[in-house]
Amino acid sequence: MDASLEMIYDEMLQRNGEQPEFQQAVREVMNSLEPILVSHPHYTDAAILERIVEPERQIMFRVAWQDDAGITRVNRGYRVEFNSALGPYKGGLRFHPTVNLSVIKFLGFEQIFKNALTGQQIGGAKGGSDFDPHGKSDAEIMRFCQAFMTELYRHIGPHTDVPAGDIGVGGREIGYLYGQYKRITNRFDAGVLTGKGINWGGSLARTEATGYGTVLFAQNMLATKGEVLEGKTVAISGAGNVAIYAVEKAQQLGAKVVTVSDSSGSIYDPEGIDVALLKDVKEVQRARISNYAQRRSSAEYRDGAKPWGVPAQIALPCATQNEVNAQDFAQMVKGGVELIAEGANMPLTHAAIEEAKAAKVLYAPGKAANAGGVATSALEMQQNDGQTQWTFAKVEEKLEQIMANIHDTCLEASEQAGQPGDYQVGANVAGFIKVANAMIDQGIM
Ligand code: NDP
Repeated sequence: MDASLEMIYDEMLQRNGEQPEFQQAVREVMNSLEPILVSHPHYTDAAILERIVEPERQIMFRVAWQDDAGITRVNRGYRVEFNSALGPYKGGLRFHPTVNLSVIKFLGFEQIFKNALTGQQIGGAKGGSDFDPHGKSDAEIMRFCQAFMTELYRHIGPHTDVPAGDIGVGGREIGYLYGQYKRITNRFDAGVLTGKGINWGGSLARTEATGYGTVLFAQNMLATKGEVLEGKTVAISGAGNVAIYAVEKAQQLGAKVVTVSDSSGSIYDPEGIDVALLKDVKEVQRARISNYAQRRSSAEYRDGAKPWGVPAQIALPCATQNEVNAQDFAQMVKGGVELIAEGANMPLTHAAIEEAKAAKVLYAPGKAANAGGVATSALEMQQNDGQTQWTFAKVEEKLEQIMANIHDTCLEASEQAGQPGDYQVGANVAGFIKVANAMIDQGIM
């Protein structure tokens, strides 16, 4: 980074002292921007960087709820409304014990650029709670969601801020959150949340969109080398929404997916993951991934182990931030990795990204590769506005076009920044320019 960028970065560090994930996300973007700021000094003159790293609004609140034993529990809720230059705030809610302001700010910051890349009219936000849904009953989940929405409802709206799911928040949680919003406001504002049930305003293919989109993005990357997914072996981490549908799409396109994982361990299934069994274990039974191996003879459960290191040309990390460090990347290399596309947000550490680039492994950051989820959420908002529901095929076709556009936009911007083929630089530069231009148009705020 040049001296003036360093100064802005240092100031950001001082203002956000105990927020390592947020600092990491900002550094990752700022590292890419130098050539653009040199060739476009008006961004510096308008203090775009200083403004873009400061959320427009940060809300923190108490969430008190009663567990099944009648004991009162207290969690902390967050909504960080980061940037509304391109449209209403948009971004998911995460329920996980590791959630804190740093995690929510890193996710909200990433979301600004991701949403810009989709080409849709959506700003960036993120929210959530340190509530842990693991092991909670349905009734407890419902009471927590109702308590959470009892504060959140006053900050959101179809044209203001539109939350969705993320880790620990899927269709069940969105249902309970929406029900409480409706009860408090007495309004059926379908467009206030996305990821809704199909028969009450949800979009077909939204559940599949993030995982499918990640695989479609990888397919576009392979095409630049004249290659296809068919016949490739794929390693995937995670066993949640993104991972399950990445497995499904990769296998539809003729690849063989041999791993999935959770925070307890990983599955190696050299015959290829049985996606119907995976869905039963995770979506129906809500069980641990070890249960998959108990029910499938070709699968091996590796307690406490990450999924990397098995023979695979493609790696799709779909679990959580910083799950792939430099050692994990070295394992991937041993397995013969040629391409990494991030289904999760910021799953590679800075060191792992540097190693991947040095090794000439094709690498796509989450803000590009996993943007299919939020893009399809915006399609859900469009359907809600028009009081209509498109077919699965129509939504999927739009998703394919959007992922291809994001891919090409990243490549074009990487050339503009003098680093052709660098998807990380391309995604950061293309997203930044779009948001920065809108911020300049709208004046100082
Ligand atoms: P889910 O809650 O459905 O699944 C998360 C999965 O990741 C679970 O298998 C979970 O295992 C695993 N996991 C979580 N934390 C860890 C950890 N510390 N170590 C190892 N495994 C872990 O979440 P999603 O699939 O929705 O989200 C996964 C990632 O994708 C996140 O980074 C999210 O931000 C990102 N993303 C999600 C989008 C969406 O539409 N849902 C959109 C764009 C990005 P366990 O059960 O043991 O915790």
